[in-house]
Amino acid sequence: MSLLITDLDNTLWDWFHMWHTSFSAMLNRLSELSGVPQNQLEAEIREVHQARATTEYSLLLDELPSLQERSPKSSPMQTYDEALHALNSARKNTISLYPGVKKTLREIKSRGVPVIAYTESISFWSEWRMRNTGLDGLIDTMYSSPDHDFPHGKTPESIRMYPSSDYGLKKTEHRHVRQGLLKPNKEVLRWILEDFSVDRRSTVYIGDSLMKDVAMAQEFGVHDVHAAYGVSHDREGYELLRRVSHWTEEDIRREKILAERPDIAPTRTAHKGFSELLDMFDFQGA
Ligand SMILES: [Mg+2]
Repeated sequence: MSLLITDLDNTLWDWFHMWHTSFSAMLNRLSELSGVPQNQLEAEIREVHQARATTEYSLLLDELPSLQERSPKSSPMQTYDEALHALNSARKNTISLYPGVKKTLREIKSRGVPVIAYTESISFWSEWRMRNTGLDGLIDTMYSSPDHDFPHGKTPESIRMYPSSDYGLKKTEHRHVRQGLLKPNKEVLRWILEDFSVDRRSTVYIGDSLMKDVAMAQEFGVHDVHAAYGVSHDREGYELLRRVSHWTEEDIRREKILAERPDIAPTRTAHKGFSELLDMFDFQGA
């Protein structure tokens, strides 16, 4: 095999655990501080997430009507800064790679095989997670969605708290896919294989979602591996995500059906961890 393409969230790190821990910490604090019931906040949050097409929207608090009402003199993000603090510190404390990921990536790279990441998550948070897990440089190129839109008059730079050298990636090259282009659309895989001039049969793709990752890899004809070790069984977290996410009812319905009766059978399954890739394939640079 001469190319590895990997999903990021719940394939290299436990995004779901990080999201649930940090988001619920923020939500609890926000409800305590503002007196707005949690279910009302959740409903308002869902509307903003749907409008912004992401569950990781940086200016979320400023756009929640019940917080705007209770914060007439300053922006909700300033008034409820403590809740953002809870979010940020939980996020930092809970992002970590699955065991064996770094070692496996190093081994594959040492054999001259490029490692490519393909994530649907937005640019800013994908880079944040790459930096905070020490993967900058261990992945050759990352393909991600672009950032969400910003309200009129605001730019990513205008809301940054640290110098711009603290952002971005130093070694991994970052390419953006077209906004709204989502898995299991095969277009990005086609693009990656063209970029690296590699044949489908020499390419391995690994990801935790049967519906998105495995289905896409199979349809395109690269070797598919299901990262079953990354599938979360946190029901409570899943319910919260469902209540506040940008997903449409149709997305949720499809996920539910698939979870109950998976009709996509992966060719290979990694049950224990990412390092199983080394037992499954002979990675050798072209
Ligand atoms: Mg994933």
